[in-house]
Amino acid sequence: MKTFLLEIYTPYGKYFDRYVDELVIQTEEYVLGILPNHAPLVAKVKVSKMEIIQNGQKKCYAIAEGLLNVKKDGVVLLVDAIESKEDIDIDRAKQAKDRATKRLEEPLNIDIERATKALIRANNRIAIYENDD
Ligand code: ATP
Repeated sequence: MKTFLLEIYTPYGKYFDRYVDELVIQTEEYVLGILPNHAPLVAKVKVSKMEIIQNGQKKCYAIAEGLLNVKKDGVVLLVDAIESKEDIDIDRAKQAKDRATKRLEEPLNIDIERATKALIRANNRIAIYENDD
């Protein structure tokens, strides 16, 4: 099986640095299934589910906003935040959802865009945690 090097960085440093079979990731425009020798590109990625297939095994992650660079010799992903499905703290995500929802119900003197983005991140984590795959 052909593989490619996937490197993932967060504001805290290197999160992932391994050879993988495939990366499935949502850019602002498409869901991309990236295999070895994919055409080079740069794209913004959405708050969404991401999948890494390594040694034939699929693993799911929640990602926040980021930037993807598919290069000739590998893939680099910079993301604001990433958690594997099993690392998602569901209570924390539900609390974040409640906080953002309450703020948006009384949107005086709040940063609506910030609260909306927080809600999207929380909903994404909850959906991935509750998803069966
Ligand atoms: P919160 O308000 O709970 O911090 P948030 O969406 O504002 O949520 P982020 O700014 O996206 O949080 O992430 C900050 C850090 O906390 C990142 O390292 C991220 O991986 C981690 N993180 C946030 N929420 C969770 C969660 N529910 N489970 C595990 N890690 C989380």
